[in-house]
Amino acid sequence: RKSAEKSYHNTCTESIKNRQRDMTTMLYQLEGALERRELEMYLQPKVCAENGAVAGAEALVRWKHPEKGFISPATFIPLCEENGLICQVDLLIFEQVCRCLSRWREAGVELVPVSVNVSRQHFRDPEFLSEYKRILETWKVPPEWIELEITESIMFSGSEFQYVRDFIQTLHKIGFTCSLDDFGSGYSSLSLLKDLPIDCLKLDRQFIISRFEEQSTRTVIEMIMDLARKLGIMTVAEGVELEEQVSFLREAGCDLIQGFYFSRPLPVEEFERYAFGRSLG
Ligand code: C2E
Ligand code: CA
Ligand code: CA
Ligand code: CA
Repeated sequence: RKSAEKSYHNTCTESIKNRQRDMTTMLYQLEGALERRELEMYLQPKVCAENGAVAGAEALVRWKHPEKGFISPATFIPLCEENGLICQVDLLIFEQVCRCLSRWREAGVELVPVSVNVSRQHFRDPEFLSEYKRILETWKVPPEWIELEITESIMFSGSEFQYVRDFIQTLHKIGFTCSLDDFGSGYSSLSLLKDLPIDCLKLDRQFIISRFEEQSTRTVIEMIMDLARKLGIMTVAEGVELEEQVSFLREAGCDLIQGFYFSRPLPVEEFERYAFGRSLG
């Protein structure tokens, strides 16, 4: 028995060690990937619930590892956040977004706003904003075309409410639009909507998949949509995969829909075909 426990213990320590080694290797490869620019931006369409027209996009990072193939951002983004690499990743994506918007403008297509994820790390160090401003100027992109997505969880990670509100105001002063991402994934309070000067709320995917069948969930979604409309806040539902979800959300007054039902995140060229009917490369 003792030896069984011991071997169990050893296996655990082994697997923790392996995990740490994997993470260290991944981190090392990620640094290389950043230098070699192996990270790519994909765009997922946000579609108007009323008429199905493309009304925006979210920029999502993709890493194509030379041997391991595609690695999910859900795996490497948290790792980047622990190591400060996230700032470089986000700058890279931000720059690609600006490059796209500038190209679209030159091509004369009707622009759609693109949203970019802002990591919690940036909250502690708003210095990143001067970098963003510099990139905007380089590509001559008006900030109004860019929406910054701030995850709801920053509200519960020790940030002072006042601080978050000031931060959003700073973003507005620059000209960015601001959305509250993953709304409903934690214990969000509806008063967040009243007290934070956000332009848009994104109803979290978990919210929709796990509890959509229940009447009570539907009622809560309807209430959130109603409240947002009355407060003049745009609504986006994410992770929408099914027809019945689309029709319910449309009925509930949700403005935009983002999810596999309409489209997965796409490489830029494919997004352009989807949104503008042609590739602009
Ligand atoms: P998020 O910001 O909540 O992004 C939405 C995620 O939902 C994306 O996952 C997207 O591919 C996925 N998704 C969209 N529609 C559907 C659907 O209908 N069904 C399902 N099952 N999934 C759907 P992805 O691209 O794997 O990204 C995961 C998370 O990684 C993102 O969650 C975001 O928090 C983070 N992330 C991705 N790119 C970046 C980035 O450039 N910078 C930062 N800081 N974080 C990023
Ligand atoms: Ca997001
Ligand atoms: Ca989200
Ligand atoms: Ca999420």
